[in-house]
Amino acid sequence: MNYIPVIGLEIHAELMTKTKVFCGCANTFGSERNSNCCPVCLGMPGALPVLNRRAVELTISAGLLCGCRISHLTLWDRKNYFYPDLTKAYQISQLYAPLCLGGGLEINGRFIRLNRIHLEEDAGKLIHERNVSILDYNRAGVPLIEIVTEPDIRSADEAVAFVERMRRNLVYGDICDGKMEQGSLRVDANISVMPEGSDVYGTRAEIKNINSFRFIKRAIEFEIKRQIGALENNGRVTQETRRYDAASDETFSMRSKEDAHDYRYFPDPDILPLFMSDEDITGIKGKLPEPPHSRFLRYTDAYGLSVKDAETILSERFMSDFFDAAVKIGADPKAASNAVRGELLRCVREAGSDEIPVSVSDFTKALALAAKNEITQEGLKTALSYMFFNHVDLETAVKANNLLISEDFELIGAVITEILAASPDIVSKYKDGNSKVFSYLFGQCMKRLKGKALPATINAELIKGLNEI
Ligand code: ADP
Ligand code: MG
Ligand code: ZN
Repeated sequence: MNYIPVIGLEIHAELMTKTKVFCGCANTFGSERNSNCCPVCLGMPGALPVLNRRAVELTISAGLLCGCRISHLTLWDRKNYFYPDLTKAYQISQLYAPLCLGGGLEINGRFIRLNRIHLEEDAGKLIHERNVSILDYNRAGVPLIEIVTEPDIRSADEAVAFVERMRRNLVYGDICDGKMEQGSLRVDANISVMPEGSDVYGTRAEIKNINSFRFIKRAIEFEIKRQIGALENNGRVTQETRRYDAASDETFSMRSKEDAHDYRYFPDPDILPLFMSDEDITGIKGKLPEPPHSRFLRYTDAYGLSVKDAETILSERFMSDFFDAAVKIGADPKAASNAVRGELLRCVREAGSDEIPVSVSDFTKALALAAKNEITQEGLKTALSYMFFNHVDLETAVKANNLLISEDFELIGAVITEILAASPDIVSKYKDGNSKVFSYLFGQCMKRLKGKALPATINAELIKGLNEI
């Protein structure tokens, strides 16, 4: 029998606020353990949370980028459970009235619906070393959004594409840094399979905390096979929470899955309901940076770049920002796209860099030099990589590599004389007032003098030569 996979994702993204969501502690990664903590985020009795406005704005920004409806009234709930990384034994979250509802993203022509995006607090981190477990509460109280899809995804590849597109929105929106290796973006995948032709979803397993694109793909693919095997052998799949182990490339059962009522959700009495007016929401919309999709349309429609080229530039926000800055000060979009996707991307990869350490204005000037043939296309590449790796300006890069096409006037004169002597018919046509033939002669000279004379010089010297005949 053939089976159809049914997948829904819960994407957790840490917000890029300066401080935590309910207290003034710093929201930074990599600080000394337990250095960013206070009575509120440690859950001391009597400490009172105060909601971080920026965290609300960023959650709404995420919703706006995904076409969600933004709620005017938001409520806060306590999700109760005990675990050492959660000192209060409850997490402040939003069950009944989340900030964002509905919306979705189109992935290769299929619309994947979102159920909701809500704001909550992250838990601390448990670090298991050989014989001990260490608790680090720096992450406790970091603002976290949970983006929940409907079970609309039908393959591991589609799940990966969805997370990539979502990550891009969050990174371009200054919402989340998207660093999966640091845990800023983590994915829970809910997976079930159903017989082809059925419209009843099967029992799902939830794989928790997957932290790389590669693992999302492998974990889902493994889980689909495992469930099909279970159905064929035992006729059933158990509803449970599983974890993916990269070393063995398998998923393992962690616990049977809890339902919402197991958490005894109830309204948090410490935080008032939040009202957002239309003006509040419009204000947040106005502050959003240009989203990747509108950049894509600008690249393909206004600049005439191919879909593939536009996607390459957009694949890293620093490339897209660099490209935009250059075009803004007058760089030709096509030439800038070629250079960014070509030589600069090559340098970025070689250096393993996440920035382009070249001044946008020098980059733009270098393109102009190449457009005027004052340096060759090879010379342009040399100039760009030299500036990239040596952190110098264009003038230094051009001088150090002797890139300016050098002019040898004796040679120019000799070549022009030779070419004019070889084409007496054309010269007489020119003399008879047919100025169109000039470009033929110019082309001949350019070919012979490539790299040894500037086009402007050839132009002037050729006119002089013709006048002298
Ligand atoms: P919970 O909060 O208990 O994990 P939800 O109903 O909020 O449960 O759903 C969580 C995720 O599971 C959502 O992304 C949803 O799309 C997905 N999901 C629900 N039912 C199924 C199913 N039968 N197969 C696959 N995914 C599912
Ligand atoms: Mg869940
Ligand atoms: Zn704190």
